[in-house]
Amino acid sequence: MYKRADVKVGFACNNHCTFCVQWDKRLRFKPRSLEEIQTIIQGEYDKWALYIVFTGGEPTVHPQLVEAVAYAKQVGYKQIQIQSNWTNFDKIEYVQKLIEAGVTEFSPSIHGFHKETHDRQVVTKWAWERVVKWLINLRKLNQIVIINSVVTKENYKEIPELAALLIKLNVTQFQFAFVHILWSAAANKEDVVPKKSLVMPYIYKALDLAKKAGIPAYTEAIPYCLMQWYEWAIAENHMPETSVVDAEYRVDSYADYRWSEWKSKRENCRTCVKDKYCEWPWKEYPDMYWWSEFEPIKKD
Ligand code: SF4
Repeated sequence: MYKRADVKVGFACNNHCTFCVQWDKRLRFKPRSLEEIQTIIQGEYDKWALYIVFTGGEPTVHPQLVEAVAYAKQVGYKQIQIQSNWTNFDKIEYVQKLIEAGVTEFSPSIHGFHKETHDRQVVTKWAWERVVKWLINLRKLNQIVIINSVVTKENYKEIPELAALLIKLNVTQFQFAFVHILWSAAANKEDVVPKKSLVMPYIYKALDLAKKAGIPAYTEAIPYCLMQWYEWAIAENHMPETSVVDAEYRVDSYADYRWSEWKSKRENCRTCVKDKYCEWPWKEYPDMYWWSEFEPIKKD
């Protein structure tokens, strides 16, 4: 599997998600110029990336995203993804321009089965309708559509219905990422962060539906001990090695960075048969709910 580069083209965004991990960067950093983005694109390619993800903030509010995509294609990237909240797409011509420029997959996010749940969390009216409209259009355009949904206190009970909707809309793949308790999510944590043990029955149902429908589905930031019988869906086991070009720093290996900076483990985990492979929860999670849900697995 080849290396992936995650490139943040700017931090401006038209949503104001209650769980945003980019916090005030939208105020502190200007969008990157096209020249700066092109230098990053070439630099990551020279460091062996063949897969590039344009993200932010919201990449589609950058006025030269199409040019950046075209440059990535010209440089030689094999896979080009746009990660978007999809609130900004009104014209099919814009999407067609992105496809013509070289986008090979779209990764929209949707955070609820009910439109009110999604709109309340992204703090934008009519956002859900737009995402769903464009999921339908993208599939009509025969595009690869990889959905990301953040799991929160507001939406976890809707996860199976959301999975059923995504299956009906014929998306290519979907993923449920447990909210990372940073910045906005940390500031709103009592309202945003659910207990994992309460969430899991809904996740299992969603994964069962995906498996039955033959659609790849994954979870992120949920350790093995809560994923027994569903280990096949642990996203971290399928992620390519990824570099991240953020506002003020570059991370060469996102996996190493996650393990060393963002994940937490307790002594008891050493007795678990999955200890060597498990990424453990985000380190802020046990501070909130402690460790009682994470029971070491004794036998493979
Ligand atoms: S007990 Fe610890 S090492 Fe084992 S699966 Fe759970 S979090 Fe991972």
